[in-house]
Parts: sequence; structure tokens; C-alpha cells
Amino acid sequence: MPDCIFCKIIKGDIPCSKVYEDDNILAFNDIQPMAPVHVIIIPKKHIATLMDLDAKNIDVTSNLISAAQKVARIKNISDRGFRTVINCNAEGGQVVFHLHMHLLGGRKLQDPLG
Ligand code: 5GP
Ligand code: ZN
Repeated sequence: MPDCIFCKIIKGDIPCSKVYEDDNILAFNDIQPMAPVHVIIIPKKHIATLMDLDAKNIDVTSNLISAAQKVARIKNISDRGFRTVINCNAEGGQVVFHLHMHLLGGRKLQDPLG
């Protein structure tokens, strides 16, 4: 997707602070972190929102979860704990329309969801 900021990061046109990468997934530090650990995990395939996941691309779901486990281990917070969030569409707070999972941790997360 030419106008998608996360596709540009995947292509290398916009730099990122990479945390983890494999054939299907890229994970990088959020540019405006909300916690000591705040990583964005994205599929390399452009999928706009969680609502665009279906039987044809459902493998993306397990790829994201598997990458979240790896990122938590890389950041040494797998035992202490962390939170994963996928915002969907406007009222869900989604700003970048390339499916992504936030992984937050490194402090006790107090903020009530919503
Ligand atoms: P959303 O609100 O769409 O769920 O979250 C988008 C996230 O992407 C935000 O936390 C924002 O800080 C992050 N973000 C937006 N643009 C960039 C960028 O160019 N680089 C990085 N590393 N993060 C970005
Ligand atoms: Zn994209």
C-alpha cells in the first residue's frame, strides 16, 4: 500500500528501531512510547484492520501472538507481565490503518481499559 506508513517501514523507506523480524512479521519500538516497553507488531502483508482478518489470512493471528511471545522474551518482561492491544477503527482508537498489535510493559499497567 503506497500511502501506508507501516508498509513504508517494512520497505525500509522509513527507519524504525527494530525489535524482531521474520518472514511474516516485523516488530519495532513505538515512536511515542506509552510505557518503558512499547512495541508495535505488524504483519508484513498489508491488512487494514482486525475486521479484515478472515479464513484466507487467519494465520496472521497466530503469527502476531507468536511474535508477541518472542518480543516479551527479548524485552525480558515475559514473567513480569505485559499487555497486548489491537485498536480497531475510529472509536477503537486506530490511527494507522495497517493491522498492528501494541505490546506494552516494563511497569505496572494501571490504566483501566477504555
Ligand atoms: P494506533 O492508534 O493506530 O493503534 O497506533 C499507532 C501507533 O503507531 C501509535 O502508538 C504511534 O505512536 C505509532 N507510530 C505511528 N507512526 C509511527 C512511525 O513512523 N514509527 C513508529 N515507530 N511508530 C509509529
Ligand atoms: Zn500497510
